[in-house]
Amino acid sequence: MLQDKDRIFTNIYGMHDRTLKGAQARGHWDGTKDIIGLGRDKIVEIMKASGLRGRGGAGFPTGLKWSFMPKESDGRPAYLVVNADESEPGTCKDREIMRNDPHTLIEGCLIASFAMQAHACYIYIRGEYIREREALQAAIDEAYEAGLLGPNAAKSGWDFDLYLHHGAGAYICGEETALLESLEGRKGMPRMKPPFPAGAGLYGCPTTVNNVESIAVVPTILRRGAEWFAGFGRANNAGTKLFAISGHVNNPCVVEEAMSIPFDELIERHCGGIRGGWDNLKAVIPGGSSVPLLPAEVMREGAIMDFDWLREQKSGLGTAAVIVMDQSTDVIKAIWRLSKFYKHESCGQCTPCREGTGWMMRVMDRLVKGEAEVAEIDMLLDVTKQVEGHTICALGDAAAWPIQGLVRHFRGEIEDRIRVKRGGTVEIAAE
Ligand code: SF4
Repeated sequence: MLQDKDRIFTNIYGMHDRTLKGAQARGHWDGTKDIIGLGRDKIVEIMKASGLRGRGGAGFPTGLKWSFMPKESDGRPAYLVVNADESEPGTCKDREIMRNDPHTLIEGCLIASFAMQAHACYIYIRGEYIREREALQAAIDEAYEAGLLGPNAAKSGWDFDLYLHHGAGAYICGEETALLESLEGRKGMPRMKPPFPAGAGLYGCPTTVNNVESIAVVPTILRRGAEWFAGFGRANNAGTKLFAISGHVNNPCVVEEAMSIPFDELIERHCGGIRGGWDNLKAVIPGGSSVPLLPAEVMREGAIMDFDWLREQKSGLGTAAVIVMDQSTDVIKAIWRLSKFYKHESCGQCTPCREGTGWMMRVMDRLVKGEAEVAEIDMLLDVTKQVEGHTICALGDAAAWPIQGLVRHFRGEIEDRIRVKRGGTVEIAAE
């Protein structure tokens, strides 16, 4: 179990003073000037050694991503953009950082921007996060007043400006290139890659887009050392992580824990167990709505909450937003609801996604009611494969994967519903 002394987020529940004074009392903004004094290469080296993988879903190594930024400027400025558009169903971890522990993020923005030679950083916050925006802006203002931002930020010799920009409610703006389009004042539509943002991102300049949590953990990693951070979790899955657990547990919560924590320990220790006990567990979406669900048999014992173990089960850690479903759940309807969400949020610029998400949703619509042919299940699966990997951005995959997970693990339930609708009976396996 993660001990309090090893927590990066010391005010995630808002129990303490969230102002600069409170943050400083908890150790934030301590020696920021000296950290920057380590120099750009050293900071990137430590970040690589820490093993931090991006906390926004894809899990790409953060230090490596930073190293893609040009070593020498060709005259264009460089930018850091923080993706605070947290809009995926089930994911609610970054909001706790922004409203309760905002200085972890602000200090991280300064240090990470310096490491990428950026004099400006934009935080793109989800439009619906109004209170979070207010809390974060108040913290930014405080930091400016205290000289921690602005010219010679934190007396480091680095001039640095931090801007908070709020979105207007489109899920697709969480995709990094759509986010950049939106930030530039256009419709949030993903760009074709390449060029990647490190080559041509915001305003055509070298840009790195990082998740809130990825940036907020940076100062503590640099203060305590790469080895300390790498000491949590299994190899290749380092660090501590915010888990956001919702659904049918007794106490849904957001909690910082060590990576690779067993699923049963996470639920028992922090969520008071599964509603109705472990025998009542039906399925778990372990990493935000876009990753395939896993059935109770897989999650009940021996499940490890990290990138690699969940990928081996054909799912993913994603944002570590864990959605727990008990036996009362109509799992077909639950996945149908996600299909509806992705259909609604498709930006529409590529055909497999624009047409496919609607097509998949309409079939799911009928599967919920059992008004379909059994053969359509395979047809649906086939369409998910035609959408997956054939679109500009990952929304196509995100729409396809939940359905694939449903068919993989609950095909029997889908077929039963069709049979019952036709007046047939359901075969119940002998215990
Ligand atoms: Fe837009 Fe969907 Fe294509 Fe992404 S996959 S660019 S959301 S149409």
